[in-house]
Amino acid sequence: MGVNPGDVFVHRNIANMVPNTDLSAMSVIDFSVVHLKVNHIVICGHYYCGGVKAAMQAADLGILNPWLRNIRDVFRIHKDELNEIQDEEVKYKRLIELNVQEQCINVIKTAEVQQAYRERNLTVHGWVFDIHSGKLIDLKINFKKLLEGVMEIYRIT
Ligand SMILES: [Zn+2]
Repeated sequence: MGVNPGDVFVHRNIANMVPNTDLSAMSVIDFSVVHLKVNHIVICGHYYCGGVKAAMQAADLGILNPWLRNIRDVFRIHKDELNEIQDEEVKYKRLIELNVQEQCINVIKTAEVQQAYRERNLTVHGWVFDIHSGKLIDLKINFKKLLEGVMEIYRIT
């Protein structure tokens, strides 16, 4: 990213998920938006993500099941598009991108982000890190459009 140590406040978890029941992820959003007053939130996934791969397979992975179910929900939401893709690798990459987009939506569902958008135009970005090329790819998610769609149902503030 070309930034110095301390410039980016980072939270990491399996498959870049932002479930609303994850107290750690919710606390990170609250701390960074309300207290550090960040103006940009980046959801950064990566191609060849093992978490997304696991969610694409029929396997009982114990305690990982509820976490991975969130990714299966992303597949369900976008199944018409994903099922049109014949190439398994292309489908895998697309699910990774759609998962990033859905996690951006989960970020927008929080009161802190909705409030900060109104007050100072905080923006949410979706990126994918290509671990083969080393490139960070901006998915150019249409934040305004996502926000409008989300606010219709999830407006808190
Ligand atoms: Zn991963």
